[in-house]
Amino acid sequence: MKKYIPAAVIFAAFETAAISLWLTKDNAFYLFNFSYIGCVIALGIVLYARAYRHARRAVQLLVGLYMLVYLGLICSENMQIEGFWYYLFTGVFEAATIHYAVAKIFGPLIFGRGWCGYACWTAMVLDFLPYKVPASHERRKIGWIRYLAFAASLAFVAALFLAHVGNLERIMFWAFVWGNALYYALGVALAFTFRDNRAFCKYICPVTVFLKPMSYFSLFRVTCDKGKCVSCGRCAQVCPMDVDVTDNSRSRKNATECILCMECARACPRGAL
Ligand code: SF4
Ligand code: SF4
Ligand code: SF4
Repeated sequence: MKKYIPAAVIFAAFETAAISLWLTKDNAFYLFNFSYIGCVIALGIVLYARAYRHARRAVQLLVGLYMLVYLGLICSENMQIEGFWYYLFTGVFEAATIHYAVAKIFGPLIFGRGWCGYACWTAMVLDFLPYKVPASHERRKIGWIRYLAFAASLAFVAALFLAHVGNLERIMFWAFVWGNALYYALGVALAFTFRDNRAFCKYICPVTVFLKPMSYFSLFRVTCDKGKCVSCGRCAQVCPMDVDVTDNSRSRKNATECILCMECARACPRGAL
């Protein structure tokens, strides 16, 4: 039973957040939302503990589809970065702002880029593409595009406010629809161009402007037991994010890129990770 304790702890943490937000904000949505996500993540941990090969993908699909289809399309909540700016400017502490605070700004101090490995609806689709392991682990020097995308998303929402454009809720809904369509199109095109499913994450995604610096301090990280490691290089070969996981320092190569997918640990013949 010991192997199920982490799942119980995670579920209890989410349930505490669900009940606290439900009572303080007097809104049953928070009870449903955080209970659902807590259940799915706990289920994923149970599946992982039972060595189910597709545990991560199951969680990614259950959380990603919920966010994209239910919150985004059915509830018309813009969950992309533009939605975060929008709700921030209006001073509304609602789903998108809470989501960003928990998953992408403060949460990474604890679970690093777990969001990118287990929940993101963009990567949920990109991970179906054929290049799970990148053709090359050498990075291209185009990571600056993410800052451009970040600035463009902020400028877009700021311009709507400065120009006093009406019907902003509707505009934000369509921005979510077209924004996602653009992300998927770019993500698929880049994946095939660079033969790397995660090329969009590495060079374009504006959310990494939050995720990368915060995940540098992450409490949960994959580390290497140097006593067991035989330097076979298998972990580096299978890593989708080109992390040098055998180096235990926080400044290791691509340190802030780890999505905690655990492919390296699965591939390690010595159980060193
Ligand atoms: S880097 Fe961006 S697109 Fe990639 S998984 Fe993370 S949030 Fe999603
Ligand atoms: S393979 Fe290992 S180092 Fe690479 S992203 Fe996944 S968990 Fe992180
Ligand atoms: S796969 Fe394991 S043994 Fe091989 S280099 Fe990586 S940590 Fe070391």
